[in-house]
Amino acid sequence: MAKIHTIHCKDETSTAVAVKALSQAILRFYTDHTKNTASLFVSLDGDLGAGKTTATRFLLKAMGYGGKVKSPTYSLCEEHMLQLPNHRELQVFHFDLYRMQSPTEWQEAGLLEHFDHQDRAALCIVEWPQKAEHTLPVMDLAITLMHPSDPAPEFARTIEIAAMTAKGEAIVEQLITP
Ligand code: ADP
Ligand code: MG
Repeated sequence: MAKIHTIHCKDETSTAVAVKALSQAILRFYTDHTKNTASLFVSLDGDLGAGKTTATRFLLKAMGYGGKVKSPTYSLCEEHMLQLPNHRELQVFHFDLYRMQSPTEWQEAGLLEHFDHQDRAALCIVEWPQKAEHTLPVMDLAITLMHPSDPAPEFARTIEIAAMTAKGEAIVEQLITP
């Protein structure tokens, strides 16, 4: 059975705190790997305005990234280079597939290679994975952001982090028992 960790966030600050815990588990994944070619694939589900891009910004910031995280809505994919605590580099590919007209548009745009890194550590974060239907590789973590049902505070979100692979399980395990 898939391991799932659910967090209730009453406001944006508690979302940032929850994402920070996730960032620490993800950092540990990369620093624990002896090879510098570890990769992690994370999908972000949720309606428009659920907080997928906001969560990505919190995540990259908590992982030590100081640059601007532009929404990839128009570009399909934004790239960022992060410095890991062990001084290695981590390449981050942040996708937003919302505007795709067909499920394979991301492949036609030459983005498939971002999931196939042989020479460097990579983190792929995908907003709107369902737009690609079944053309994406298996995600390690499937994160869903939800607005809790009424009468919930405007800023409240529920975040569900599901492990889809053994790599994902190792991360969710750390969130459950840090
Ligand atoms: P998405 O990428 O899912 O379309 P965005 O992250 O672009 O959504 O927008 C989410 C909006 O909701 C932002 O304006 C953000 O400030 C706001 N927001 C309010 N509460 C929260 C919360 N708890 N977590 C994340 N975003 C929140
Ligand atoms: Mg977005």
